[in-house]
Amino acid sequence: MPDRRLEYQHRVASSGGKIPLGLKPKGLRVLVTGGAGFVGSHLVDRLINRGDSVIVVDNFFTGRKENVMHHFGNPRFELIRHDVVEPILLEVDQIYHLACPASPVHYKFNPVKTIKTNVVGTLNMLGLAKRIGARFLLTSTSEVYGDPLQHPQVETYWGNVNPIGVRSCYDEGKRTAETLAMDYHRGAGVEVRIARIFNTYGPRMCMDDGRVVSNFVAQALRKEPLTVYGDGKQTRSFQYVSDLVDGLMRLMEGEHVGPFNLGNPGEFTMLELAQVVQETIDPEARIEFRPNTEDDPHKRKPDITKAREQLGWEPKVPLRKGLPLMVSDFRQRIFGDHTAA
Ligand code: NAD
Ligand code: UDP
Ligand code: UDP
Repeated sequence: MPDRRLEYQHRVASSGGKIPLGLKPKGLRVLVTGGAGFVGSHLVDRLINRGDSVIVVDNFFTGRKENVMHHFGNPRFELIRHDVVEPILLEVDQIYHLACPASPVHYKFNPVKTIKTNVVGTLNMLGLAKRIGARFLLTSTSEVYGDPLQHPQVETYWGNVNPIGVRSCYDEGKRTAETLAMDYHRGAGVEVRIARIFNTYGPRMCMDDGRVVSNFVAQALRKEPLTVYGDGKQTRSFQYVSDLVDGLMRLMEGEHVGPFNLGNPGEFTMLELAQVVQETIDPEARIEFRPNTEDDPHKRKPDITKAREQLGWEPKVPLRKGLPLMVSDFRQRIFGDHTAA
């Protein structure tokens, strides 16, 4: 990959520190697929802030223009409505490939489309990376571990995944995407990076995407009962979105292919999560038990030793600090209350 920042540093050094105005650093050209979604839009904010030029490619299945609208009019920002299942010609230095519905409600809505997005969509973006010599980062998922028989999950664990279940379009789709990335890396020399993301929450999450944090927060704000599925003893580890974006950028800029677990090791049962939501929003909020969904993993918690050691990364925002930040965003979107904390 042509490293434009290194080139620039070299020019600064050889000019004795005096750089003519026209040669100011231009930043990188970065493609973010799925950049109008929850995680993608936060990533776009960070890239634009550091001076990069960003192209977002999104089909708006779950993404929203509102998430990136604040960049409209910025000459370093471009938004293209496009489905990654179709080929596309672009010229960039880096590709963050996020395009894919992430919540079970959304990815089960049209499972064949979910597989096509993961397989054909990822193939297209890898073909693009190969043609233009761009570095490619895949946002894979902790779901590649399935209903894990090893706890916490280490990257070397191969997982326990049902290939014919209702979640398979997503978890097997992402497993194939990882395979494709590694084959383009080994076979075509594409510089790839693989992140396995664990449950992430924060502002701009889809309000009604059925994920547990968005459900509980919206329910508590609307004075509805918190719906705990099953006995509520299943666990998840919740990561605040700014920590994830930091991890993705470190991974992209670093020298290691991965895969890397990116998640917060703080593990909670769904009942404990409901309790934190009660403490944060409404101690009076009631809990209602509902039957659990099929193939629901019992436990999930990342081992992040590899990311700590090789990327120098670890999450900084605990659930009790991150949740209030998401609550103020949801409160504003539900009630239009701009003053609420
Ligand atoms: P999201 O649904 O908010 O964002 C996904 C974006 O991709 C949306 O803007 C959607 O419109 C777009 N998209 C979907 N299919 C597309 C297609 N065929 N062509 C173009 N655009 C398409 O989800 P998110 O939480 O921001 O997740 C982003 C990525 O991170 C996904 O790849 C997801 O699998 C991965 N991930 C997220 C989590 C999490 O907890 N949020 C966990 C593990 C992995
Ligand atoms: N592709 C793309 N943009 C590009 C280059 C390739 O969308 O700039 C797509 C291409 O249409 C193909 C896929 O990426 O479907 C894989 O491309 P590759 O060149 O690796 O394989 P091939 O075209 O030889 O099957
Ligand atoms: N869950 C719940 N109540 C809800 C939504 C989800 O108890 O309203 C549970 C769900 O059964 C699962 C956990 O919360 O055990 C996490 O679900 P989510 O869909 O957020 O993420 P994923 O299953 O993909 O980790």
